[in-house]
Amino acid sequence: MFQVPRGTRDFTPDEMQKRRYLEHNMAKTFTSFGYGEIQTPTFENLELFTAKSGESIINELYAFNDKGGRSLALRPELTAPVIRCYVERLQMEPKPLKLFYFGNCYRYDRPQKGRYREFQQAGCEIIGTDTCEATAELLALAYTLLKNTGLKNIRLNIGNLTLISAIFKKLHLLKDDQKILLPLIDKTQFDDLKIALRDCNVSEEIINEFLDVLQTSDINKIRSFIGEDHDAKTELSTMETILDLLKNAFHINEYVLKLSIVRGLDYYRGLVFEIDAPVLGAEKQLCGGGSYDLVSLFGGTEVPTSGFAIGFDRTILALEEEGFRFPARKLDVFVIPVNQTMNTTAIQITQELRSHDISADFDQLRRGIGKSLKYADARHAEKVIIVGPKELENKTVTLRDMKTGAQEIVTLTDIHTKLKEI
Ligand code: AMP
Repeated sequence: MFQVPRGTRDFTPDEMQKRRYLEHNMAKTFTSFGYGEIQTPTFENLELFTAKSGESIINELYAFNDKGGRSLALRPELTAPVIRCYVERLQMEPKPLKLFYFGNCYRYDRPQKGRYREFQQAGCEIIGTDTCEATAELLALAYTLLKNTGLKNIRLNIGNLTLISAIFKKLHLLKDDQKILLPLIDKTQFDDLKIALRDCNVSEEIINEFLDVLQTSDINKIRSFIGEDHDAKTELSTMETILDLLKNAFHINEYVLKLSIVRGLDYYRGLVFEIDAPVLGAEKQLCGGGSYDLVSLFGGTEVPTSGFAIGFDRTILALEEEGFRFPARKLDVFVIPVNQTMNTTAIQITQELRSHDISADFDQLRRGIGKSLKYADARHAEKVIIVGPKELENKTVTLRDMKTGAQEIVTLTDIHTKLKEI
């Protein structure tokens, strides 16, 4: 017996129905915000991913050499590939350039519920603007995308790396210290953070204040802790404008300012954000994003860039946990010939319905009406057409409603108009 490789999954037709629903739903929202879809290859040159993150990222990748000796990797995310494509082909496009995508990603991670080695991301990048209105719109898009899928309970948390840097500067923390502290902040391991800060000779009073500031949503408290840093002051007033637009122009009130959001990846700067689904427990993060620098690293002319990625699989898990009713997979019509001499007519009727955009199938196992009706029911057929010799003499068939069991005789020429009406 063969099994799927560890951390990967098959998707049955019922599961694919849910995934397609979500994809259509999200594509609609992206499009409504003026984004155009982009697709990039499943594998890229390995260097694309090591350029910013360093060689250590290779441990988390599916990296390999091809027969020509090229170092390649299955993509672990789509921001770097999309920015590579932008630098290669799209730099002359009018700005801002708004791109969205769906794509499989691969990470050599320890699999668990909501964490896979092959998973799908839905995401977007906006290239060429970092105005407050563009950033507020990006936050609004991430929130609206998830809300539009039918999710009820999500939390948008907004952080800022410029402010974190200003705090590190104030506490006289060195770059090497920051490398240890940031992952602890990212994972909200505040007890370990305290110990690490003590090791960096930060006083107990300041440690407590810092932890407070990491968890407060009061912008004034953050402002007074940071003090006179010029960059931080400018960033704070930018943040205020963004949050004001989010609330008063995009009408999104359900967000929390949370400086402990620092994102794991190395290329972010400035504003960063995450959206959680509390219903998911441990692996609850549905979306992560922010502004970042990659264009100049990839050889392009520097422009502001920001974006986010949503875990497609986790969004489905969250919807299921919330009891969301996905649209059911159904068949419009199942056609049953009462005997084999009716086969040709049954097929002709099926084909006629299909050509009118009605989903239709016919009995291909030559079973009796009883068994065929059972099969039609298992396929969630809405209607059944029974093709019998007596009715056919009058150019009619029997149309049965599978919900009510009601039957009527309809003429062949009327079938598709009748079904379309329904
Ligand atoms: P990241 O690129 O790490 O910021 O991830 C963006 C989103 O992708 C996360 O918020 C998750 O929802 C999802 N995600 C990341 N890694 C995995 C994984 N191994 N399995 C499933 N979803 C993932």
